[in-house]
Amino acid sequence: MLDVIIIGAGPAGLSTAFWCDELGLDALVLEQSEEIGGQLHRVYNPINNYLGLKARNGEDLLERFTADVDSADFDLWTQTSISSVDLKAKRVSLASGEDLQSIALVIATGVRPRELGVPGEKEFAGKGMIESATRDRNLLAGQDVCVVGGGDAAAENALLLAEVCPTVTLVHRGKKLRARPEFTANLQSQHCITVFTESELTRIMGRDRVEAVEIQRKQGLKPFQLAVRGVLIRIGVEPNTELFREQLETENGYVVVNSQHETNVPMVFAVGDLSNPVGPTISGATGAGATAAKVIASRLNAK
Ligand SMILES: Cc1cc2nc3c(=O)[nH]c(=O)nc-3n(C[C@H](O)[C@H](O)[C@H](O)COP(=O)(O)OP(=O)(O)OC[C@H]3O[C@@H](n4cnc5c(N)ncnc54)[C@H](O)[C@@H]3O)c2cc1C
Repeated sequence: MLDVIIIGAGPAGLSTAFWCDELGLDALVLEQSEEIGGQLHRVYNPINNYLGLKARNGEDLLERFTADVDSADFDLWTQTSISSVDLKAKRVSLASGEDLQSIALVIATGVRPRELGVPGEKEFAGKGMIESATRDRNLLAGQDVCVVGGGDAAAENALLLAEVCPTVTLVHRGKKLRARPEFTANLQSQHCITVFTESELTRIMGRDRVEAVEIQRKQGLKPFQLAVRGVLIRIGVEPNTELFREQLETENGYVVVNSQHETNVPMVFAVGDLSNPVGPTISGATGAGATAAKVIASRLNAK
């Protein structure tokens, strides 16, 4: 019987484990990927908003986290697939057949990029479909591109691509872009950027790589094809909560927690982006992990 099982080794899960060690709790972290770090692997921009340090990008910050993680005393199993979880019993069953049990459970499974779900999206991954303009825009320099989404991330990526691409078409389903005003003002001032609102990208086409997209403007109008060599999709994220959703209170898939980061199931905590739909940040994730560990320690010490 462990004190704490932590599911997910992004910033929230790692911080929880680090604090568990600090507080003398016996913790095990289960991570499905080969590597720890979660979304930090997808942060290509400089991180200037983590108080007390600046990092060149997510990998750089992860290196610093790893130094602390390596010196702490907790167990970490990567490439671990969980087949089911019984939250009330605090029992985790692994695909390998092993059953694990703890006094407290901390869920820190984060979020993943939302997919459009259109033909061509998976097929052309890495073949003209890019994930980040910061990282990949030079691959598309001199080419026409299409960006899907209407929030800050889509707008920011469209602006970065506009620095190197002759045309950038931004396709957004809603009536108005949701991006912050400075981004929308910049989009309007760039002649090479065309914004299609109330429109949907319905297909990505090509032979060996992206060559065109199909766009459906307002319902009723005929879809049209646009020749592009690159596509970037930024339509938000989805919480990784499918494994637990039926067993605890959620709202739009996000886990509902109280100020101690405890869910409606006693001694089951949720920390990081999966319980923070409004303001997900690295500092929020690490802070939530620290709070959860302290609450668990105080409950166990009171017994
Ligand atoms: C492009 C980009 C730029 C960003 N820039 C900033 C920034 O400048 N500043 C900032 O503060 N934040 C930034 N963020 C947000 C920040 O990365 C997140 O807030 C943070 O990573 C959340 O940490 P987390 O631990 O909650 O979740 P995640 O980082 O999503 O980690 C979750 C972990 O759980 C694992 N997992 C999922 N399901 C399971 C399962 N069933 N079993 C086991 N493991 C599982 C995942 O593999 C992953 O390792 C950025 C994010 C992106 C994508």
